[in-house]
Amino acid sequence: MAPINTANIKQYNRNKIFRLIAGRNKISKQEIAYELHMSLPTISQNLQDLKNAGLIMENGALASSVGRKATGFSIVPDAKVALGLDITLNHISMVLVNLNGCVIHSMPRKHYQIKGTEESYREVSLEISEFLKASGVSPDRVLGIGISIPGIITEYGTYIFQSSLPVPGNFYECIRPYIPFPYTLYNDANCGGLAEFWGRSDIDTIAYLSLSNTVGGSILMGGETYLGVSNRSAEFGHVTLDPNGLPCYCGKIGCSDAYLNAKLLSTMAGDNLAAFFEGLKNGNEAFRQCFDVYLQNLSILINNINMSLDCDLILGGYVGIYLEPYIERLKELVSARSTFPTDGSYIKASSKGFEAAAVGSALYYIDEFIQQI
Ligand SMILES: [Zn+2]
Repeated sequence: MAPINTANIKQYNRNKIFRLIAGRNKISKQEIAYELHMSLPTISQNLQDLKNAGLIMENGALASSVGRKATGFSIVPDAKVALGLDITLNHISMVLVNLNGCVIHSMPRKHYQIKGTEESYREVSLEISEFLKASGVSPDRVLGIGISIPGIITEYGTYIFQSSLPVPGNFYECIRPYIPFPYTLYNDANCGGLAEFWGRSDIDTIAYLSLSNTVGGSILMGGETYLGVSNRSAEFGHVTLDPNGLPCYCGKIGCSDAYLNAKLLSTMAGDNLAAFFEGLKNGNEAFRQCFDVYLQNLSILINNINMSLDCDLILGGYVGIYLEPYIERLKELVSARSTFPTDGSYIKASSKGFEAAAVGSALYYIDEFIQQI
């Protein structure tokens, strides 16, 4: 913990004021004083500092039934932005996220297979600069680039310990000449979890299960990602479902990944997950049988996670996006399996869609920036 001195008390106050304004559409000086129990001169000084930094603005008057109307203050949400780049085996996608955590520009998933070559790094670099140019956002407002990777990331976001991507462990160093911004690597499921968690004041702890072409997860407690001692927490994809079962890409037998990865469904519909769920909705019998087995296996994993963590569970990744219509069925399956009485209401479908991992990787930079305001 940093020693308490005048400078960090000042920063603490400024940070609290900024966060309060960010949480409101518009707020007056008097309301800030009332809510944060601070004196008006302290608030005036901080508002001036934040205005000078271009982070807040006066935003008209606030409605008042008596007396003079007070000036309203709002944050300047696009004063700073962060870029989120999601790299998967077969796709890349990008988003720009502002200080409100909102996506202000995005590049939808594009088919691209990254390789561990200089040419590939150059291509990604070109995609980033074209994306930024198209957004119209000046590069000096970009805080950094969060890069979401399906793998275990160590060394504070600078080394890929293990990944399904065909890039070397020192990928971070390899791309340095091509990325003209600060950048950090993050685990894709941790990013997805953060995106689902962001801005939710109603929950303190969640587990996030990412059902993409590989299966992963994350755990967020009190707004912080619980990484584990070796950065390997929430590797739900390698929880054993059947020790005598199917081989997993990790080399072991019976991991849940082998039963719950998105490819199991998409390959039935010509590698097209959307087509699979469309067919399922239209009564395709082969798809229904396959999906029944999928839901059964998913209910086992969900129950295992709930028995360990006892908290809300958000289903994300490629499959999670399509699960909303099947949540009730899943709740029934989980309730039937659970040792303790439950209606399964802790299970929730993703609300962030395909962009979750890209958004989450950008949010790490946004969060870091807001913390140091
Ligand atoms: Zn495995």
